[in-house]
Amino acid sequence: MKEKKCSSCKKSKLLCEFNKNKSKKDNLATECKACCADYSKQYRAQNKDAIVLKKKQYSEKNKEKISEYHRQYRIENKEKIAEYRKQYREKNKEKMSEYHRQYCEKNKERLKEHRRQYRIENKEKIAEHLKQWREINKDAISLKKKKYREKYKETINKKNRAYLQNKRANMKSVIYEIKNKINNRSYIGCTTQLGRRWREHKGSLERGKHENGLLQKDYNKYGKDAFVYSILKEHRKDIQFQDLEKEETKLILGKKQNGEKLYNISVKISSIEI
Ligand SMILES: [Zn+2]
Repeated sequence: MKEKKCSSCKKSKLLCEFNKNKSKKDNLATECKACCADYSKQYRAQNKDAIVLKKKQYSEKNKEKISEYHRQYRIENKEKIAEYRKQYREKNKEKMSEYHRQYCEKNKERLKEHRRQYRIENKEKIAEHLKQWREINKDAISLKKKKYREKYKETINKKNRAYLQNKRANMKSVIYEIKNKINNRSYIGCTTQLGRRWREHKGSLERGKHENGLLQKDYNKYGKDAFVYSILKEHRKDIQFQDLEKEETKLILGKKQNGEKLYNISVKISSIEI
């Protein structure tokens, strides 16, 4: 008997066209494979929701069993999975990079916050990693730096010049005046670091902690805008500070003799030439 009649489509078919079924006499199903497949398809279409629900229930009930199965599978098929992933990435390069780009764009803020948090939590780890990385890539880094310096030579030189100029301007040796426009009282001072010294004056006046009580009092009374900062006399850069102080003292004493109003109360005895 090489052929058998299907109970569903009534066609005579080869035995290999029937599924096995041990409960039957001839160990074969009564319906042919094609009919069985049709039936299954129909059944699935008609019972879609019920099947989905059943699957869901099953996976919920067997959560641990399933995850254990997956875990085991991943362990046993490590290389196979890696190879598959590699091939997939190779094949879908553009699709993946596009997907990645979109994902980053959509989750910009979240990713930013995540990175920030990570940096805070892993400060030491990152520092150590960076140190090691620098050590390993020493030569590459120094080469890169060299190339960068060569490429941006002009810009760097320009920046350096500007920095030095600015520094020099701030390093002037001068005698300066802080003048109260309203009552014409002046504070006289001298410095070899003009920018810094003026910042100090402004800062301590703002905090109410200026060393000169009279000046502070008027500052509180008249406000910041009542005071004008100006240079009275500029000296050679290489002047000794002692000499600068002597010049300052001379100027203060002269102004006092002229009856000009000053905030300076005392002068340094050491700076008066005898
Ligand atoms: Zn059939």
